[in-house]
Amino acid sequence: MNYRHAFHAGNFADVLKHLVLSRVLAHLSLKPAPFRAIDTHAGLGFYDLTADEAGRTAEWIDGWGRLAEPFPPAVEDLLSPYRAAVAAVRARHGPTIYPGSPALIREALRAGDHGVFVELHPDDAATLRARYNGHARTKVLHLDGWTALNALIPPPERRGLVLIDPPYEVLGEIDRLGAHLARAVAKWPTGVFLAWYPIKDRAAVDRMVAVLDAALTRPALRLDLMIDRPDDARLTGSGLIVVNPPWRLAEEAALFLPALAERLARSDYGAFRCAALGPAA
Ligand code: SAM
Repeated sequence: MNYRHAFHAGNFADVLKHLVLSRVLAHLSLKPAPFRAIDTHAGLGFYDLTADEAGRTAEWIDGWGRLAEPFPPAVEDLLSPYRAAVAAVRARHGPTIYPGSPALIREALRAGDHGVFVELHPDDAATLRARYNGHARTKVLHLDGWTALNALIPPPERRGLVLIDPPYEVLGEIDRLGAHLARAVAKWPTGVFLAWYPIKDRAAVDRMVAVLDAALTRPALRLDLMIDRPDDARLTGSGLIVVNPPWRLAEEAALFLPALAERLARSDYGAFRCAALGPAA
């Protein structure tokens, strides 16, 4: 396990993932019934952008760093839960902090909601445990995320989301994502699932999407954001599969994806895709 998210926190891929996560959490909070948010590959919870790791890659500068200027009001409205959560995490932990998915989830939890954060790296799991195990609404598990995914669903609340955000260090992990996600949706058909993937090997992404499109019994969205010309040798974009998307998410993505593609483009090329998958496609 070599991947450490501290080197990448706040980069362009985090921006897409965390914005969509914040949108889904905002939609879940519209109804009073409690929900559970399960994060199968949780990382450290939050990161200091002035730390050595973040400084060595400086990836956040071309991610979260590029969101300093406001977008047009319709896009800003959609970003407001994300920006508010970053501000709340900074108020709690310090002005140079960037939240990971556990910190964003924690800020969204209401009385009665629960967050479960799963992390396999022993050091990261220990840090995460120290940060979140003391709270009544959050629990940290030092486990394999794929095993936990199967064991933790459906949750007792029967309402909520699962974020699946593996590091893709192992060859074939993208195919694993398709297979595990299809099985998980069959086990919890009403859960919202968010699965992140890198866009580098485009054939592997298309293969995973085709498997899901054929296997899914629930509607889903594919949200891709390219920040550079496609090049199978480099990371030039990332995407999310969202199963059981909140009903307005496609409409919202039609606003925020073009804005992000323009703002986060490395040079003169930014692109996006919002496509329906599964039975409604
Ligand atoms: N979700 C986090 C966020 O948005 O802030 C970032 C997660 S990072 C991309 C992936 C994490 O998965 C790393 O912290 C890594 O240690 C962890 N990991 C790797 N293999 C795992 C496994 N089999 N089960 C659970 N966690 C794993």
